[in-house]
Amino acid sequence: MTSSKLNQFLNENLEDLKSQGLYNEIDPVKGANGPIIHVNGKDLINLSSNNYLGLATDARLKNVAKQAIDSHGVGAGAVRTINGTLDLHLKLEEKLAQFKGTEAAIAYQSGFNCNMAAISAVMDKNDAILSDELNHASIIDGCRLSKAKIIRVNHSDMEDLRQKAKEAVESGLYNKIMIITDGVFSMDGDVAKLPEIVEIAEEFDLMTYVDDAHGSGVLGKGAGTVKHFGLQDKVDFQIGTLSKAIGVVGGYVAGKQNLIDWLKVRSRPFLFSTSLTPADVAASTAAIDLLMESSELQEKLWENSEYLKKGLSALGFDIGHSETPITPCIIGDEKTTQQFSKRLNEEGVYAKSIVFPTVPKGTGRVRNMPTAAHTKDMLDQALAIYEKVGKEMNLI
Ligand SMILES: *Cc1c(COP(=O)(O)O)cnc(C)c1O
Repeated sequence: MTSSKLNQFLNENLEDLKSQGLYNEIDPVKGANGPIIHVNGKDLINLSSNNYLGLATDARLKNVAKQAIDSHGVGAGAVRTINGTLDLHLKLEEKLAQFKGTEAAIAYQSGFNCNMAAISAVMDKNDAILSDELNHASIIDGCRLSKAKIIRVNHSDMEDLRQKAKEAVESGLYNKIMIITDGVFSMDGDVAKLPEIVEIAEEFDLMTYVDDAHGSGVLGKGAGTVKHFGLQDKVDFQIGTLSKAIGVVGGYVAGKQNLIDWLKVRSRPFLFSTSLTPADVAASTAAIDLLMESSELQEKLWENSEYLKKGLSALGFDIGHSETPITPCIIGDEKTTQQFSKRLNEEGVYAKSIVFPTVPKGTGRVRNMPTAAHTKDMLDQALAIYEKVGKEMNLI
């Protein structure tokens, strides 16, 4: 017999979510995740992936992955410290350090895992973390796991950050203090004010931690937000993912050699979870090679995102203040946003609605993620559908 308490808990809460319209039905995609996806029997223009450069289906990377399976098998066989560190892992880490302009780097199984790993390897209950209120869920969870005092900072509010940094330092309550931020904020597409953050960190001698999941491959000629601002020497922790622009799966921390040495002996997802597969590692290394050799894909990504943004603006949509390819189309009311996304889908555009509690109440939006793999024709079709549905629902 299964637990009646568990059943009661699950049934009540699932019903509650469903009655509020907050239960997320997940759409299975048939075939690859590209600029066109096949969902529920239909081909849709995909504006919902994080596959910024289209590398998830790149023929060169597929070949490299297949070769790695032939030479190294499908699994790494163990956690890194036992005997799961393959030559391929070391090659990837060397490449990552070069790419990021740091002394060293360490790879993890995901970007989420990086935040589970790195924060708690360094911070503890005697420390404090100044955390932007819009930071990614994995940053929030990583901070909680560390047991450090979490001090929430108003989004990108440098006055607030300076004030709270000053208070934390002057309180004398904490051993170490860290400022932690997304490089690019994923719901609005705005970029962290890293030059000012670094200035405040230097003023009060604080650590800096930038999770650049949405910036790597996109900003700074591909190397990310920190490089974009020329701050490679001034940010202690650079976190990145191999799952978005790089197109594969995995994550990494780049920084000084002593930081990486420490993470290799003290970060728990590295010590207690099996390492990335040979195919993932080889494909990621090849993807970074591509990014370092040419900026063609980034240029295409930016060109496509400018095109989509101009088109949506011209139609009369509110696209917010994004500074990156992330293109929100802000509708406001939650129910209307969901209905809008549903109608777009019926007409051939796959763009998900994002509503409270992921974004503040009354700022529901459909978020568009153009990629380098979209053609002008696909974007024109998407814009025509936006126009049709927008007019039909009296939104423009
Ligand atoms: C997407 C994202 C992650 C998670 O990365 P995965 O590699 O998908 O686990 C972590 N941090 C931020 C800021 C993200 O946007």
